[in-house]
Amino acid sequence: MTKLTDQSLLKKASYWQGEWHDADNCFDVTNPANGDVIAKVANSSADDAEKAVAAAHRAFNAWAARPAAERAELLLRWQQLLLEHQDDLALLLTLEQGKPLAEAKGEIAYGAGYLQWFAEEAKRVYGDTIPAKTDDQRIIVIKQPVGVVAAVTPWNFPNAMIARKAAAALAAGCTFVVKPAQLTPLSALAMAELADRAGIPAGVFNVITSTDAKAIGEVLTEDKRVAKFSFTGSTKIGKQLAKQCAGTVKRVSLELGGNAPFIVFDDADLDAAIDGLMASKFRNAGQTCVCTNRILVQQKVLAAFTEKLLKAIGKLKLGDGTADNVDIGPLINHDACDKVDKLLNEALALGAKLQCGGKRQAADSLFYLPTLITGVNNDMAVAQQEIFGPVAAIQSFDTDAEAIALANATDSGLAAYFYSRDIGRVWRVAEALQYGMVGINEGMVSNPAAPFGGVKQSGYGREGSKYGLADYLDIKYLCLGGLAD
Ligand code: ADP
Repeated sequence: MTKLTDQSLLKKASYWQGEWHDADNCFDVTNPANGDVIAKVANSSADDAEKAVAAAHRAFNAWAARPAAERAELLLRWQQLLLEHQDDLALLLTLEQGKPLAEAKGEIAYGAGYLQWFAEEAKRVYGDTIPAKTDDQRIIVIKQPVGVVAAVTPWNFPNAMIARKAAAALAAGCTFVVKPAQLTPLSALAMAELADRAGIPAGVFNVITSTDAKAIGEVLTEDKRVAKFSFTGSTKIGKQLAKQCAGTVKRVSLELGGNAPFIVFDDADLDAAIDGLMASKFRNAGQTCVCTNRILVQQKVLAAFTEKLLKAIGKLKLGDGTADNVDIGPLINHDACDKVDKLLNEALALGAKLQCGGKRQAADSLFYLPTLITGVNNDMAVAQQEIFGPVAAIQSFDTDAEAIALANATDSGLAAYFYSRDIGRVWRVAEALQYGMVGINEGMVSNPAAPFGGVKQSGYGREGSKYGLADYLDIKYLCLGGLAD
């Protein structure tokens, strides 16, 4: 950790009411690349979470009342600080999460991009006037922040999953409490330090670090002072938290697991498809909810595509994310490696064929070799569950109808990708895919201007774009009467 230029970005306490709060005990944050303990962080309690909610509640009225232009100014200052400290923030992120430094830097810039986008969008929260039924009335619609927002975020994007939610919430005039994943709290705390330096008022942005996700989650989902709950994580936990929110009728946004198909049609530009696939499959070692999970290739181009993919995978460099030119870092923990092993071995036992990789670099290591399997079918667990690892799994199909049916045969509906140059096919397939986001001749779709989110059991609500801001705003209808002479 001596490599941080600004050592005070390494924070180890929870942050609420503009102050740092230690806890009675701490938990270890470890580097997945080598198992080293990077920091011992406050293991805050449910009582602490309650205090953070109270702080956010106290801060709400004043924050909501500030002109949007002033809120925007503060968000932009925060964004600039994130960019100024991009190298340190990226290093912290790589140390706690494992992804290569270049990807970590990309994540910081991507997260900061949401702060910029929503700072701008904050100034455009327009209302409506609607023609009234009678001439002595006017109908006016205004938009107001929903109130205190609570969030629970995952470990795979320790910075951006928070930035994306907090930027929209704060821009709308809401205050915010987040519980980051216990595996990656340092990025969240560094963001709090920079929020503080940016002049974000006390109580507006709060972070609770804890290993007791259940107890903290109960406060954040059940406290009636919290108006909205936003979650990114597994489908199982998301469903449970949505139930917990029902008791106080909170607004809920859920960004849950995906099972992205990547369809390669016979008229595709195969080299472009390989580039798109490599980014969407192997980024973050395959640990993203929009990662390609199933590769569907039309029979006519199956052999050519498989050969090209095998070559591309052969060039990937596995290693510690802080080393030079590394493409893939370690998986997050042993459970993640065990899950990949299990899915892979089951697929192989059912007839899939191993083309490369297929195991960890060494028995006790978290580095999983980039892997390709062919001859997969849609009923295998590897095609129905999120792999969350660097395993490319190819299935084949004959007709467009078959590809669409295979792609849609899942409970998930987050991201899908397909490659084709035929405009008629592009429209037909884009409309038929039951997904919230579709990359057409593109392997990376996420950016602050676009609505990120899923359908089916991948969740509801959108992050980014004008739709992302709407999720943090209430609509209020004003009926102005008595206007007749
Ligand atoms: P993953 O498999 O990606 O770790 P999880 O859904 O388990 O997905 O975790 C995502 C986030 O949800 C993390 O911050 C984790 O601590 C939190 N979490 C896990 N279980 C609960 C729970 N019962 N209540 C509230 N938050 C939880």
